[in-house]
Amino acid sequence: MNRRTVTILGATGSVGQSTLDLIERSADRFEVLGLTAHQDVDGLAAAARRVNARKAVIADEALLVPLREALAGTGIEAAAGEQAVVEAAGSGADWTMAAIVGTAGLRPVMTALRGGRTVALANKEALVSAGEIMTDAAKESGACLLPVDSEHNAVFQCFDADQPKTVRRVTLTASGGPFRTRTLNEMRAVTPEQAVAHPNWSMGAKISVDSATLMNKGLELIEAFHLFPLEADAFEVVVHPQSVIHSLVEYVDGSVLAQLGAPDMRIPIAHALAWPDRMETPCQRLDLVSIARLDFEAPDLERFPALGLAKAALGEGGARPAILNAANEVAVASFLDKRVGFLDIAAIGGKTLESFDPPAPSALDEVLEIDREARRIAQDIARNFQI
Ligand code: NAD
Ligand code: MG
Repeated sequence: MNRRTVTILGATGSVGQSTLDLIERSADRFEVLGLTAHQDVDGLAAAARRVNARKAVIADEALLVPLREALAGTGIEAAAGEQAVVEAAGSGADWTMAAIVGTAGLRPVMTALRGGRTVALANKEALVSAGEIMTDAAKESGACLLPVDSEHNAVFQCFDADQPKTVRRVTLTASGGPFRTRTLNEMRAVTPEQAVAHPNWSMGAKISVDSATLMNKGLELIEAFHLFPLEADAFEVVVHPQSVIHSLVEYVDGSVLAQLGAPDMRIPIAHALAWPDRMETPCQRLDLVSIARLDFEAPDLERFPALGLAKAALGEGGARPAILNAANEVAVASFLDKRVGFLDIAAIGGKTLESFDPPAPSALDEVLEIDREARRIAQDIARNFQI
């Protein structure tokens, strides 16, 4: 049997490592063409050796020599630079995992989609900033876009794509993050260390902060809108602290289908890796008796204004989601560097949206231009918030 060829963009990250874990367990089924990373030469070289990748690519051009040295004698090809990451995305793999964080992933995702094969998408920012441009590219090339974000993967598993008109509503669940029960005043002084300590999931720093502000759920509403053919107001959010139900699809007859599972990203990744088949994973089996109860509450937009900003950006469309996403990336990086406070993250997003209102982009280059300008504005705004 021919092995399926795979490329992992963002191989050293949380989603990248979970993907590699599954591939290593089924090494006879997959052949790794390319792995990419930003700056972690050692992590990238170690992963490339483990799965005997054909090529390893480091985005930071200055790190080509150390990567070559780390791979010496293995026969694994080394490359460096942003363009080399894009080329890895276009390497023609049967299956590409898009797990770069942030807008750095936009060009690679676009290139993978244009290749017309299967793209497993974790990099939600690509759909938030350039949704229709991405989905149009997939339609044109015939690429199969599979959602890996746990909520969207859950919806994908429950959504009758042949009869979208029979779906009334999609509900994304949110854990509520580490500050679900904190007051606004308590949240003012929280530290990056507290913000990245997610109660249920182990993830990269940026998405962990996004989960704490609920911006993650806002970005996911926009992501869902581009993945499933419903009106914007058919998507809603419910807080579900146990993270057992990953999302729900309600049909016109009142039936509600949900996907449940342990909070382990290897489950949705395995679903995308084996689709339309299924594969075994080492993940914990769901034990309903020990979970005993499932709780739900409405999200509080006053304490978590980032979710409101994202909802508004989704409703307004055009360049608004790209601007909010860019400003949020700047604000989260500033917070992680301890240059602004936790509550300033949403404030920087809101102020950037107030100061910048370009026309809707119609091509990826225009999205990237809007992204650059929104970042510049957000940096200026962040300086005024400096603590
Ligand atoms: P992470 O920070 O752990 O990993 C990010 C990866 O992207 C790393 O391999 C890093 O080297 C690479 N990268 C970062 N900047 C880059 C750049 N400028 N150029 C090239 N590569 C770059 O992040 P993560 O938690 O794995 O999340 C990855 C994506 O998946 C994000 O978009 C996130 O929202 C999404 N996601 C993550 C999870 C999760 O459980 N971690 C769940 C759902 C969705
Ligand atoms: Mg998610």
